[in-house]
Amino acid sequence: MGKSCVVIGAGMVGTSTALHLRQRGHEVVLIDRSEPGQQTSFGNAGLIQREAAEPYPFPRELGKIWQVASGQGFDIAWRASALLHVLPQLLAYAWHSQPQRHARVASHYGALIAACITEHDALVRSAGAQDLIDTRGYRKIYRTAPAFEQAARDAERLARTWGIDNRVEDGAELARREPGLKQRLAGAIHHASTWSVRDPGALVQAYAADFVAQGGQLMRAEVQALEPQLKGWNLRTSQGPLSAQDVVVAQGPWSQDLLAALGYRFPMFVKRGYHQHYDGAHGLNGPVFDAQKGYLLVPMRAGLRLTTGAELALRDDAPQPTQLAPAQACARTLVELGQPSPLAPWMGSRPCMPDMLPVMGPAPHHSGLWLNFGHGHQGFTLGPVAGRLLAEMISDQPCFLDPAPYAATRLAS
Ligand SMILES: Cc1cc2nc3c(=O)[nH]c(=O)nc-3n(C[C@H](O)[C@H](O)[C@H](O)COP(=O)(O)OP(=O)(O)OC[C@H]3O[C@@H](n4cnc5c(N)ncnc54)[C@H](O)[C@@H]3O)c2cc1C
Repeated sequence: MGKSCVVIGAGMVGTSTALHLRQRGHEVVLIDRSEPGQQTSFGNAGLIQREAAEPYPFPRELGKIWQVASGQGFDIAWRASALLHVLPQLLAYAWHSQPQRHARVASHYGALIAACITEHDALVRSAGAQDLIDTRGYRKIYRTAPAFEQAARDAERLARTWGIDNRVEDGAELARREPGLKQRLAGAIHHASTWSVRDPGALVQAYAADFVAQGGQLMRAEVQALEPQLKGWNLRTSQGPLSAQDVVVAQGPWSQDLLAALGYRFPMFVKRGYHQHYDGAHGLNGPVFDAQKGYLLVPMRAGLRLTTGAELALRDDAPQPTQLAPAQACARTLVELGQPSPLAPWMGSRPCMPDMLPVMGPAPHHSGLWLNFGHGHQGFTLGPVAGRLLAEMISDQPCFLDPAPYAATRLAS
């Protein structure tokens, strides 16, 4: 018999979870203080990253550390006030990034990523959202020969290890594939099996609409507190009380907020990022990552979206989009960028865990409480994989992937 479940957070992760629970016959309420897909899952680069089998490690090369620390380059920015708060998380992140540990983390991360296209494909078809998907792949472009040659070696290793369709393109091949580029570059890696989404927020909305069409209930309210009962849960919300047997916390970067009152302290930290749209006749055939500079250009419905790298700041600090201007200047040397949108730059927070793995599974000290957050740089990619895995656990079904590496018990205090 189906259970009554509430999923808190209608981003890509929560919406996919709610949909998978509903497909397994549960009575599901998906609750968010905004419309579905309007927060982190709205403003990202919209890539469904089949190529991202290995999570970004903490920088280890001395040259790179010096570059970041001294404020040269603009792929990573940081605020001293925030570093003091997140120092323990950053030290743990550096520790987990040692080569042997990182290889172990990557084996668990890569298992999730390997399923991302198949799992999105099932939801895209069910939602009839094929018009939002571009399957022409994604390019990382390199300006200098040594960087390109190193990238080609890495791409071949990743292709062998993870079965990723990576194609190495020299400068001439890249110029043929992307004739809109204004400069002759050293070359590119074309990740042919990566998808891009023309409007990431709209894809979440399409999945949410499918959830409602399948009998799920969408509720717009702020959840203010979670109260365990003898059996099940009461939720205090801005629209009144709600109860359920099982509750899923899928609040992205806000996931720690309600859990703190229940005694959980997860070492989550955020890497913030910004986007700006441009109206130029850029001529790009697909998304392009300017790999030696650290920003992305993605053709979208709203224009050409430029997204920045990581800003180490606190989630609620005021926006400080200092990475946008240098990224924009670099992008102008590559494509006809045109004018920026008059809207203020969008800002979002990637919810990151120090060991680079998401938290997916039961809460350690409360029955009927489930966790699905911390998907970092690839939460948009991983939402449907994470949603299926959690729905299988809640439904007591065999899991299509071993959930043990993602258990909360490894981190919670
Ligand atoms: C610049 C940038 C580029 C990125 N590019 C990519 C990319 O190309 N590919 C990729 O895979 N990932 C990318 N990411 C990461 C990705 O966007 C996130 O990992 C992902 O969106 C997280 O999804 P989520 O559902 O966990 O969180 P969210 O999308 O933030 O959803 C959480 C939801 O919870 C709701 N909520 C929170 N608290 C409450 C409450 N108390 N009551 C009710 N509702 C609540 C919020 O309103 C929100 O809708 C990028 C991130 C950034 C910042």
